[in-house]
Amino acid sequence: MASRDVYGAVEGGGTKFVCMIGTSPTDVVDEVTIPTTGPAETIGEVIEFLQRPRPGIRLVAIGVATFGPIDLDPTSSTYGCVLKTTKEEWSGARILAPIARRLGVPVGWDTDVNGAVLGEARWGAAQGIDPVLYLTVGTGIGGGALVNGATIHGLLHPEMGHIAVPAVPGDSFPGICTFHGRCLEGIASGPALAARCGRPVPEIPPDDPVWDLEARYLAHGIRSLILTLSPRRVVLSGGVMRQAHLLPRVRRALVEVLNGYIDLPELKDRIDEYVVLSKLDQKAGLYGALVLAERASPRTG
Ligand SMILES: [Zn+2]
Repeated sequence: MASRDVYGAVEGGGTKFVCMIGTSPTDVVDEVTIPTTGPAETIGEVIEFLQRPRPGIRLVAIGVATFGPIDLDPTSSTYGCVLKTTKEEWSGARILAPIARRLGVPVGWDTDVNGAVLGEARWGAAQGIDPVLYLTVGTGIGGGALVNGATIHGLLHPEMGHIAVPAVPGDSFPGICTFHGRCLEGIASGPALAARCGRPVPEIPPDDPVWDLEARYLAHGIRSLILTLSPRRVVLSGGVMRQAHLLPRVRRALVEVLNGYIDLPELKDRIDEYVVLSKLDQKAGLYGALVLAERASPRTG
Protein backbone atom coordinates (compact mmCIF):
# COMPACT_ATOMS: atom_id res chain seq x y z
CA MET A 1 0.00 0.00 0.00
CA ALA A 2 1.34 3.45 -0.88
CA SER A 3 1.90 5.66 2.15
CA ARG A 4 1.15 9.34 2.47
CA ASP A 5 3.74 11.83 3.78
CA VAL A 6 2.71 13.73 6.91
CA TYR A 7 4.32 15.88 9.60
CA GLY A 8 4.50 15.74 13.36
CA ALA A 9 3.87 18.99 15.27
CA VAL A 10 4.60 19.61 18.95
CA GLU A 11 3.70 22.70 20.93
CA GLY A 12 5.32 22.70 24.36
CA GLY A 13 3.77 24.87 27.05
CA GLY A 14 4.15 25.33 30.78
CA THR A 15 1.11 23.20 31.61
CA LYS A 16 0.75 20.96 28.57
CA PHE A 17 2.37 19.65 25.40
CA VAL A 18 0.01 19.34 22.44
CA CYS A 19 1.08 17.05 19.60
CA MET A 20 -0.48 16.32 16.24
CA ILE A 21 0.12 14.31 13.12
CA GLY A 22 -1.10 15.80 9.85
CA THR A 23 -0.34 18.34 7.16
CA SER A 24 -2.70 21.27 7.91
CA PRO A 25 -5.46 22.37 10.32
CA THR A 26 -7.96 20.60 8.05
CA ASP A 27 -5.89 17.42 7.73
CA VAL A 28 -5.34 16.18 11.27
CA VAL A 29 -4.59 12.45 11.44
CA ASP A 30 -4.10 12.27 15.20
CA GLU A 31 -3.74 14.63 18.17
CA VAL A 32 -2.94 14.30 21.86
CA THR A 33 -2.51 16.54 24.91
CA ILE A 34 0.18 15.56 27.42
CA PRO A 35 0.52 17.27 30.82
CA THR A 36 3.86 19.05 31.36
CA THR A 37 5.63 17.27 34.22
CA GLY A 38 9.38 16.60 34.16
CA PRO A 39 11.30 16.74 30.87
CA ALA A 40 12.15 13.02 30.72
CA GLU A 41 8.57 11.91 31.29
CA THR A 42 6.93 14.55 29.08
CA ILE A 43 9.34 14.22 26.15
CA GLY A 44 9.11 10.42 26.53
CA GLU A 45 5.34 10.63 26.05
CA VAL A 46 5.74 12.99 23.09
CA ILE A 47 8.09 10.49 21.42
CA GLU A 48 5.73 7.59 22.17
CA PHE A 49 2.88 9.46 20.46
CA LEU A 50 4.97 10.40 17.42
CA GLN A 51 6.30 6.84 17.07
CA ARG A 52 2.92 5.13 17.28
CA PRO A 53 2.37 2.94 14.19
CA ARG A 54 -0.22 4.43 11.84
CA PRO A 55 -0.92 2.40 8.70
CA GLY A 56 -0.80 4.28 5.40
CA ILE A 57 1.17 7.29 6.57
CA ARG A 58 4.86 8.16 6.75
CA LEU A 59 6.24 10.78 9.14
CA VAL A 60 8.77 12.83 7.14
CA ALA A 61 9.58 15.73 9.49
CA ILE A 62 8.70 17.15 12.89
CA GLY A 63 8.30 20.73 14.12
CA VAL A 64 8.62 21.72 17.77
CA ALA A 65 7.55 25.11 19.16
CA THR A 66 8.15 25.45 22.90
CA PHE A 67 8.25 27.86 25.79
CA GLY A 68 11.65 29.46 26.25
CA PRO A 69 14.21 30.60 26.61
CA ILE A 70 15.61 28.00 24.23
CA ASP A 71 18.87 27.61 22.31
CA LEU A 72 18.24 28.08 18.57
CA ASP A 73 21.88 28.38 17.51
CA PRO A 74 22.84 25.21 15.56
CA THR A 75 26.55 25.82 16.27
CA SER A 76 26.01 25.88 20.03
CA SER A 77 26.66 22.90 22.31
CA THR A 78 23.28 23.47 23.95
CA TYR A 79 21.35 23.70 20.66
CA GLY A 80 17.95 22.09 21.09
CA CYS A 81 17.90 22.62 24.86
CA VAL A 82 15.84 24.78 27.16
CA LEU A 83 18.12 27.44 28.67
CA LYS A 84 18.07 28.65 32.26
CA THR A 85 14.43 29.15 33.20
CA THR A 86 12.33 29.69 36.29
CA LYS A 87 10.95 26.18 35.69
CA GLU A 88 14.02 24.65 37.31
CA GLU A 89 13.43 21.08 36.28
CA TRP A 90 13.43 22.20 32.64
CA SER A 91 16.62 24.30 32.82
CA GLY A 92 19.08 22.63 30.44
CA ALA A 93 16.56 19.98 29.34
CA ARG A 94 17.35 18.45 25.96
CA ILE A 95 14.27 18.55 23.77
CA LEU A 96 15.39 18.24 20.18
CA ALA A 97 18.08 15.54 20.35
CA PRO A 98 15.96 12.74 21.87
CA ILE A 99 13.11 13.40 19.42
CA ALA A 100 15.43 13.50 16.39
CA ARG A 101 17.32 10.38 17.53
CA ARG A 102 14.24 8.26 18.20
CA LEU A 103 12.25 9.35 15.14
CA GLY A 104 15.12 9.60 12.65
CA VAL A 105 13.61 12.50 10.69
CA PRO A 106 14.54 16.21 10.47
CA VAL A 107 13.22 18.31 13.34
CA GLY A 108 12.65 22.07 13.08
CA TRP A 109 12.28 24.14 16.20
CA ASP A 110 11.49 27.58 17.47
CA THR A 111 9.84 29.37 20.38
CA ASP A 112 6.09 28.96 20.93
CA VAL A 113 5.46 32.60 19.97
CA ASN A 114 7.62 32.43 16.84
CA GLY A 115 5.67 29.27 16.00
CA ALA A 116 2.43 31.15 16.60
CA VAL A 117 3.35 33.94 14.18
CA LEU A 118 4.17 31.33 11.51
CA GLY A 119 0.78 29.70 12.11
CA GLU A 120 -1.13 32.99 11.94
CA ALA A 121 0.70 34.02 8.76
CA ARG A 122 -0.12 30.69 7.12
CA TRP A 123 -3.67 29.88 8.23
CA GLY A 124 -4.79 32.58 10.65
CA ALA A 125 -5.22 36.32 11.08
CA ALA A 126 -2.25 37.40 8.94
CA GLN A 127 -2.42 35.12 5.91
CA GLY A 128 0.08 36.10 3.26
CA ILE A 129 1.20 39.16 5.22
CA ASP A 130 4.84 39.96 6.05
CA PRO A 131 6.21 41.37 8.34
CA VAL A 132 3.83 40.32 11.12
CA LEU A 133 3.99 40.95 14.85
CA TYR A 134 2.31 38.44 17.19
CA LEU A 135 1.89 39.32 20.85
CA THR A 136 0.25 37.13 23.46
CA VAL A 137 -0.98 38.66 26.71
CA GLY A 138 -1.76 36.00 29.30
CA THR A 139 0.12 34.50 32.24
CA GLY A 140 3.13 36.13 30.64
CA ILE A 141 3.62 38.42 27.65
CA GLY A 142 5.52 37.03 24.70
CA GLY A 143 5.97 38.05 21.11
CA GLY A 144 7.04 36.55 17.82
CA ALA A 145 7.85 38.30 14.58
CA LEU A 146 7.86 37.12 11.01
CA VAL A 147 10.21 39.27 8.91
CA ASN A 148 10.98 38.52 5.24
CA GLY A 149 9.58 35.02 5.64
CA ALA A 150 11.63 34.09 8.68
CA THR A 151 11.32 34.38 12.43
CA ILE A 152 14.06 36.25 14.26
CA HIS A 153 16.89 34.22 15.84
CA GLY A 154 20.03 35.92 17.05
CA LEU A 155 21.80 36.43 20.30
CA LEU A 156 18.81 34.57 21.73
CA HIS A 157 15.34 35.19 20.32
CA PRO A 158 13.02 38.13 20.83
CA GLU A 159 11.74 38.44 24.41
CA MET A 160 9.22 41.17 23.71
CA GLY A 161 7.46 40.85 27.05
CA HIS A 162 10.45 42.35 28.84
CA ILE A 163 10.72 45.63 26.95
CA ALA A 164 10.50 48.78 29.05
CA VAL A 165 7.31 50.83 29.09
CA PRO A 166 6.96 54.33 30.53
CA ALA A 167 4.93 54.68 33.72
CA VAL A 168 1.52 56.25 33.30
CA PRO A 169 1.56 59.39 35.47
CA GLY A 170 0.11 58.70 38.92
CA ASP A 171 0.53 54.93 38.68
CA SER A 172 2.74 53.66 41.48
CA PHE A 173 2.20 49.90 40.97
CA PRO A 174 5.73 48.45 41.19
CA GLY A 175 5.21 45.64 38.66
CA ILE A 176 5.81 41.94 39.24
CA CYS A 177 8.65 40.91 36.91
CA THR A 178 11.35 39.36 39.10
CA PHE A 179 14.02 40.75 36.76
CA HIS A 180 12.66 44.20 35.91
CA GLY A 181 9.64 45.02 38.05
CA ARG A 182 7.79 47.28 35.65
CA CYS A 183 8.59 45.83 32.23
CA LEU A 184 5.66 45.19 29.84
CA GLU A 185 5.05 41.72 31.30
CA GLY A 186 5.61 42.99 34.84
CA ILE A 187 2.96 45.66 34.44
CA ALA A 188 0.41 44.27 31.95
CA SER A 189 0.36 40.44 32.09
CA GLY A 190 -2.62 38.63 33.60
CA PRO A 191 -0.85 38.05 36.95
CA ALA A 192 0.23 41.72 37.04
CA LEU A 193 -3.34 42.83 36.47
CA ALA A 194 -4.62 40.40 39.11
CA ALA A 195 -1.99 41.58 41.61
CA ARG A 196 -2.89 45.20 40.95
CA CYS A 197 -6.62 44.56 41.42
CA GLY A 198 -6.43 41.91 44.14
CA ARG A 199 -8.63 39.51 42.19
CA PRO A 200 -8.43 37.21 39.17
CA VAL A 201 -8.67 38.87 35.74
CA PRO A 202 -12.08 37.35 34.79
CA GLU A 203 -13.56 38.94 37.95
CA ILE A 204 -12.51 42.48 37.04
CA PRO A 205 -15.66 44.17 35.68
CA PRO A 206 -15.47 45.65 32.16
CA ASP A 207 -16.24 49.15 33.47
CA ASP A 208 -13.30 49.14 35.93
CA PRO A 209 -10.98 52.05 35.03
CA VAL A 210 -8.03 49.65 35.32
CA TRP A 211 -8.78 48.43 31.79
CA ASP A 212 -7.87 51.82 30.33
CA LEU A 213 -4.60 51.66 32.21
CA GLU A 214 -4.04 48.11 30.93
CA ALA A 215 -4.78 49.24 27.36
CA ARG A 216 -2.37 52.16 27.77
CA TYR A 217 0.51 49.92 28.86
CA LEU A 218 -0.14 47.43 26.10
CA ALA A 219 -0.28 50.32 23.61
CA HIS A 220 3.09 51.61 24.82
CA GLY A 221 4.59 48.15 24.30
CA ILE A 222 3.00 47.71 20.88
CA ARG A 223 4.14 51.19 19.85
CA SER A 224 7.78 50.29 20.51
CA LEU A 225 7.42 47.01 18.63
CA ILE A 226 5.70 48.66 15.64
CA LEU A 227 8.38 51.34 15.45
CA THR A 228 11.12 48.67 15.61
CA LEU A 229 9.72 45.98 13.32
CA SER A 230 7.35 47.91 11.04
CA PRO A 231 4.82 45.05 10.86
CA ARG A 232 2.03 45.15 8.28
CA ARG A 233 -0.28 43.52 10.82
CA VAL A 234 -0.36 43.14 14.60
CA VAL A 235 -2.00 39.96 15.93
CA LEU A 236 -2.95 39.88 19.61
CA SER A 237 -3.74 36.75 21.59
CA GLY A 238 -3.81 35.29 25.09
CA GLY A 239 -6.15 35.03 28.06
CA VAL A 240 -6.20 38.75 28.93
CA MET A 241 -7.11 39.70 25.34
CA ARG A 242 -10.18 37.44 25.59
CA GLN A 243 -11.91 40.31 27.41
CA ALA A 244 -13.91 41.51 24.40
CA HIS A 245 -13.84 45.18 25.47
CA LEU A 246 -10.04 45.33 25.64
CA LEU A 247 -9.14 45.25 21.93
CA PRO A 248 -10.99 48.50 21.01
CA ARG A 249 -9.35 50.20 24.01
CA VAL A 250 -5.90 49.03 22.90
CA ARG A 251 -6.51 50.33 19.37
CA ARG A 252 -7.59 53.73 20.68
CA ALA A 253 -4.67 53.94 23.12
CA LEU A 254 -2.22 52.95 20.36
CA VAL A 255 -3.41 55.78 18.12
CA GLU A 256 -3.04 58.15 21.08
CA VAL A 257 0.48 57.10 22.06
CA LEU A 258 1.73 57.15 18.46
CA ASN A 259 0.32 60.66 18.33
CA GLY A 260 0.14 60.85 14.55
CA TYR A 261 3.76 59.87 13.94
CA ILE A 262 2.89 57.10 11.47
CA ASP A 263 0.67 58.96 9.03
CA LEU A 264 -0.96 55.96 7.39
CA PRO A 265 -4.53 54.59 7.25
CA GLU A 266 -3.43 51.54 9.32
CA LEU A 267 -3.01 53.82 12.30
CA LYS A 268 -6.22 55.74 11.58
CA ASP A 269 -9.39 54.57 9.75
CA ARG A 270 -8.06 51.07 9.11
CA ILE A 271 -6.79 50.27 12.58
CA ASP A 272 -9.50 47.58 12.93
CA GLU A 273 -7.73 45.66 10.14
CA TYR A 274 -4.26 46.48 11.42
CA VAL A 275 -4.51 45.42 15.07
CA VAL A 276 -6.52 42.20 15.20
CA LEU A 277 -7.14 39.20 17.40
CA SER A 278 -5.60 35.82 16.68
CA LYS A 279 -7.74 33.55 14.52
CA LEU A 280 -6.04 30.33 15.54
CA ASP A 281 -6.16 31.23 19.24
CA GLN A 282 -4.74 28.36 21.30
CA LYS A 283 -3.84 26.39 18.17
CA ALA A 284 -1.50 29.03 16.73
CA GLY A 285 1.67 27.51 18.18
CA LEU A 286 0.70 23.97 17.22
CA TYR A 287 -0.07 24.90 13.61
CA GLY A 288 3.11 26.95 13.60
CA ALA A 289 4.97 23.78 14.58
CA LEU A 290 3.45 22.21 11.47
CA VAL A 291 5.02 25.00 9.39
CA LEU A 292 8.35 24.34 11.16
CA ALA A 293 8.06 20.66 10.22
CA GLU A 294 7.27 21.52 6.62
CA ARG A 295 10.31 23.82 6.50
CA ALA A 296 12.54 21.14 8.02
CA SER A 297 11.29 18.50 5.60
CA PRO A 298 13.85 17.39 2.98
CA ARG A 299 11.24 17.95 0.27
CA THR A 300 10.79 21.64 0.99
CA GLY A 301 13.88 22.46 3.06
ZN1 LIG B 1 10.75 41.69 32.77
